[in-house]
Amino acid sequence: MKHVAILGAGVIGVACAHYLRRAGYEVTLIDKGRLGGACSHGNCGYVCPSHVLPHAGPGAVKMVLRTLFQRNSPLSVKPRLDWNLFDWMLRFARKCDHTSMIRAGQALHRLLGASRRLYDELLADFDADWQTQGLLFVFHTKQAFDHYHEVDALMRREFGVGATPYPTGELQQLEPALRAEVAGAYHYPCDAQLRPDRLLSEWKKRLLADGVTIRENVLFTGFARSASRLVAARTEQGDIPADAFVVATGAWTPLLADELRVRIPIQPGKGYSVTMPRSASTQGVDTPRSPNPIPRFPLIFEEHRVAVSPFADGYRIGSTMQFNGYDESTDPARVQLLLDSARLYLHDPCKGPIEETWWGWRPMVPDGVPVIGPAGPNLWLATGHGMLGLSLATGTGRLVAEMIAGVATHVDPTPYRVQRFTT
Ligand SMILES: Cc1cc2nc3c(=O)[nH]c(=O)nc-3n(C[C@H](O)[C@H](O)[C@H](O)COP(=O)(O)OP(=O)(O)OC[C@H]3O[C@@H](n4cnc5c(N)ncnc54)[C@H](O)[C@@H]3O)c2cc1C
Repeated sequence: MKHVAILGAGVIGVACAHYLRRAGYEVTLIDKGRLGGACSHGNCGYVCPSHVLPHAGPGAVKMVLRTLFQRNSPLSVKPRLDWNLFDWMLRFARKCDHTSMIRAGQALHRLLGASRRLYDELLADFDADWQTQGLLFVFHTKQAFDHYHEVDALMRREFGVGATPYPTGELQQLEPALRAEVAGAYHYPCDAQLRPDRLLSEWKKRLLADGVTIRENVLFTGFARSASRLVAARTEQGDIPADAFVVATGAWTPLLADELRVRIPIQPGKGYSVTMPRSASTQGVDTPRSPNPIPRFPLIFEEHRVAVSPFADGYRIGSTMQFNGYDESTDPARVQLLLDSARLYLHDPCKGPIEETWWGWRPMVPDGVPVIGPAGPNLWLATGHGMLGLSLATGTGRLVAEMIAGVATHVDPTPYRVQRFTT
């Protein structure tokens, strides 16, 4: 049996481990921290085939430039002399045309759809708070709601992804947590939601039961090579020999460029979330401390780029995007921005104590399409999943396993290839 070592145990590395093990490989999963402890921990939990349109599209450069000079913009870029950031921005700007947007959308659409179906299969086996009632794209102003009609038409035409519009009044009947002044929403029935920390802890148990070796708190530092082939992953705790290697190190991937011998333009895009309990028990008495009422649906507040996730035992508000490099500090103003934005839409967004304030680095690529494919004779990359890593994980894991096994793939891997950045 061939042995595959996977570097990085976020949701992407975990999904690769799952499908490789199912394909009969011996698998070792290695992480410098704990499994699922980085960007895959506190995200909003959406598995959302509706998110086919990448951020790079017509008008995106203007929008980025405008928001940079706005106070309290959900997007912020720390001004600095950084060639990698400049290169990333340039590549992003070059993809902001209609043709590139549709091409990237098609690549995302295929993998999002496959992943959504694979989650249905996977989550029949364990409980990760899987909810399939769809997602609401919510608009505060009538102008933005009316304008979304064009996006809806484009998504139907190009990708066959449809949504039902709910104008104000009808919307508040569907989702009583929304304030009366909210102008409308589009409901995407194709979308689903889960609790990411629960997914990862349950998946870990499943991997261990299936015989996957999990090495946590092990820093990968490079490869041992023989001619052009890799023979072992070098770690601070010794070499781990294997026949093939998958690099799923998310936002940290560019830091490994010398070892990988390939430069992928990834920037860490920092996002925040706050999580509150649904209710808390005080001296044996259950006192409702969570927002009242808690939303029934996962909600995206489009104009403010804020997402709300109602879990069975909790409630999360998340998002914002900071390009600050690898700055590990928590910015309280960003957290406040989330709560202030949510207040414009919800009756009572933050009533209870905050259980967890969290941030994570999304691995952002300029074209919005993940990087999945071979980068050497026995080296594969699975990274750059940006804002959609959870949604794309199962399809990515299966695709990596199929490529390593050399069998027919369930989606055409061409759009995800590493070489689009290197040739
Ligand atoms: C606020 C927020 C909300 C989000 N909401 C959603 C959502 O609703 N739906 C969705 O689909 N996506 C969402 N995302 C995006 C999603 O969280 C990411 O795309 C996804 O977690 C990326 O997974 P990953 O496995 O590539 O990276 P990570 O989870 O960051 O995992 C990479 C792992 O590699 C390890 N690593 C790095 N370097 C080394 C090394 N040298 N040696 C050993 N280990 C190493 C790290 O420790 C880490 O555990 C959200 C992100 C944020 C920030």
